[in-house]
Amino acid sequence: MGWSIKLFDVSGTAVRIHLTFFLLLAWIAAIHWSRGGPAEAVHGVAFIVGLFVCVVLHEFGHVFAARRYGIRTSDVTLLPIGGVASLERMPEKPSQEIAVALAGPAVNLVIALVLVILLGARFDLSQMAQLEQAQSTLMGRIAAANVMLLVFNLIPAFPMDGGRVLRALLTVRMGYTRATRAAASIGQGLAVIFGFLGLLGNPLLVLIAIFIFLAASGEAGYVQARDYTRGYLASHAMITAFQPLNPAATVDDAAALLLRTTQQEFPVVDGAGALRGVLTRETLIRALQEKGGATPVLEIMDRDVPIVPESACLDNVFDQVQRRGRGIVGVVDPRQKLVGYITTENLAELVMIQSSRSARTEQAAGA
Ligand SMILES: [Zn+2]
Repeated sequence: MGWSIKLFDVSGTAVRIHLTFFLLLAWIAAIHWSRGGPAEAVHGVAFIVGLFVCVVLHEFGHVFAARRYGIRTSDVTLLPIGGVASLERMPEKPSQEIAVALAGPAVNLVIALVLVILLGARFDLSQMAQLEQAQSTLMGRIAAANVMLLVFNLIPAFPMDGGRVLRALLTVRMGYTRATRAAASIGQGLAVIFGFLGLLGNPLLVLIAIFIFLAASGEAGYVQARDYTRGYLASHAMITAFQPLNPAATVDDAAALLLRTTQQEFPVVDGAGALRGVLTRETLIRALQEKGGATPVLEIMDRDVPIVPESACLDNVFDQVQRRGRGIVGVVDPRQKLVGYITTENLAELVMIQSSRSARTEQAAGA
């Protein structure tokens, strides 16, 4: 995620903070300062920082639960509207998805119980609607905030935690893809309601509603697209008609190839047929500007290109390509020779072909 800085690492997961989060802190400080001067501002900021420590702990509840099922998480990012843990995938087995989803709210429950029972923090439920007011103690307000985080995250608005539990329950009845679509529709309906409630007085709720709305459609689209790739192998979807570059080629050679072909990425393949790296159009153009045409492609190409065998399941390849953003994956035969490659664009084409085919089948069935 852009616009964020890394704070620290916790056993392989980076904790990042989005720069807009500092806007939230500044806003909170300003509001409290205007009400009660510097002491009040410090109190307000301390509360927000404490709240977000709890949000990070909540996200690590998900991270450690997912790790039990062999799922890694590269980072947890703090946004003004909450935390996002980028799990490498969600478990598709309903019982595992429920365990991962509930682990976050469970952390907030534990924090609230510890604050109230062990440390004697006091809060009453009527305070929960007015968290920004500073009458009660800091600890009491943080305990109340954790109860609110617990309740809020359990609302079944996919992709929030409660929505994931809902999706997992629906999966048992209707399968993963249809369950995701149903849960996403319910999530978007709830997001519209949140949005209206937010317009009546809570701007943060409007932001959260927009976030849920977009995330729900994004994830439903992803699951649907991935579903179309199921049952295929990497060799079914790879680009096989391409012009490679040899390792001795220069940026000028690559520029000539860019004009001669419709390719936007050029695999660099050595004499043994092995993939050494990939040169993209963007890198090529930048190198022409900054380094000149005589630069060897070996110096500027992306060497960190994943490789899969021809027999790899395409739905797994789909995850690998998507995770890298504008990704590319090399496909090799049993002797490690490059036989093709798969890009985001050509996966999108496969999805278009498959969705048109299935639309036609549905039409035929309806006629
Ligand atoms: Zn959560």
